[in-house]
Amino acid sequence: MSMDVTFLGSGSAYPSPQRGASALVLRIDGESFLFDCGEGTQTQLMKSPLRASKISKVFISHLHGDHLFGLPGLLCTISMNLSPLPDRSPPLIDIFGPCGLRRFLRVSLQLSGSQLIFPYAVHELVPSDDQCPEEGRIDPELTREGGILLPQERPGRTLHPDPNTECFTLVDDKLILVKAFKLFHRIPSFGFSLEEKERPGRLNTELLKELGVKPGPFYGRLKNRESLTLDDGRVLTPSEVLDPPVKGRKVCVFGDCCRPVGKAYKHACEGADLLVHEATLEDGQQEKAVEHGHSTPSMAAAIAKDCGVKMLVLSHFSQRYKPEGLRREEEDEDDVTEMKRQAEGILQGSGTEVVLAQDFLTLTVNLEKRVMQ
Ligand SMILES: [Zn+2]
Ligand SMILES: [Zn+2]
Repeated sequence: MSMDVTFLGSGSAYPSPQRGASALVLRIDGESFLFDCGEGTQTQLMKSPLRASKISKVFISHLHGDHLFGLPGLLCTISMNLSPLPDRSPPLIDIFGPCGLRRFLRVSLQLSGSQLIFPYAVHELVPSDDQCPEEGRIDPELTREGGILLPQERPGRTLHPDPNTECFTLVDDKLILVKAFKLFHRIPSFGFSLEEKERPGRLNTELLKELGVKPGPFYGRLKNRESLTLDDGRVLTPSEVLDPPVKGRKVCVFGDCCRPVGKAYKHACEGADLLVHEATLEDGQQEKAVEHGHSTPSMAAAIAKDCGVKMLVLSHFSQRYKPEGLRREEEDEDDVTEMKRQAEGILQGSGTEVVLAQDFLTLTVNLEKRVMQ
């Protein structure tokens, strides 16, 4: 099963021709999950090999425009390009994000007279007061449940963190587990971790054939870790013919922040294959970065080190840092490659690789716990 991450926007504040506003797509097993949807995400999608119609879940880290303003437009375009089947309703899109997102979408779609032809549900994460300075707390009047459900809107869940782990559970199905954790930013922000469930090891079919076990239901039972009694009375245990279970891959995406809140991030991100963290400004500007609720490469690297991740991807760069290759020595003073070196300085000897995000970069996450570019 393939898994990859494509950056559609690696810039902060606003979309520019060099860096789109925040958005990335994680593809797993034919499904696409969108993390953040800044303005212009739909045109970035069109320029990429990805298909907007494959998006089945959307995760919004926080309600700042550079992570959100693209969402109503993208949903409308997906709807316009759908050709509905007369006997089947299109699949539902699940949208996760902080309280207020449900109302934002409802009002945007309603006031613009937009009608989606697919069902969607907005599941809201309830933030706490320690996720932002006092002035960043969202007026409850703005997040209050307003109006009636739109024709295609289905009731969404209101999500609270687990009292033990402090993590929010967003998705928990047969294949994956998606959690969220709290971050500190100018307004409440969240990070997400997506983890594949452990899967059974490979069945040694050559050995089974030698033992005279024919393919069929027996194979399924062994995979489900049941023992079998063969025709000659011999008992075959799963461990004799099954490789050890394969640990799933884990990808984490942090929203804007200058620090996590509590320890939930560690619980969610420990040992991740790939961790995407913002680095809006370079190390020399740490004071300014923190003042605006943002991080520097060294701050991001400290989180990656803490969680023991295999690869740290820096993203959400101030628009002054042009992508490598587009920087013109004579005009652009700010060098993004310096930011990579700053993160590497912290991670020296840890084995964690540092990568700079740029628009349309795709990273493949391999099952063998190796990440290849
Ligand atoms: Zn941002
Ligand atoms: Zn922000």
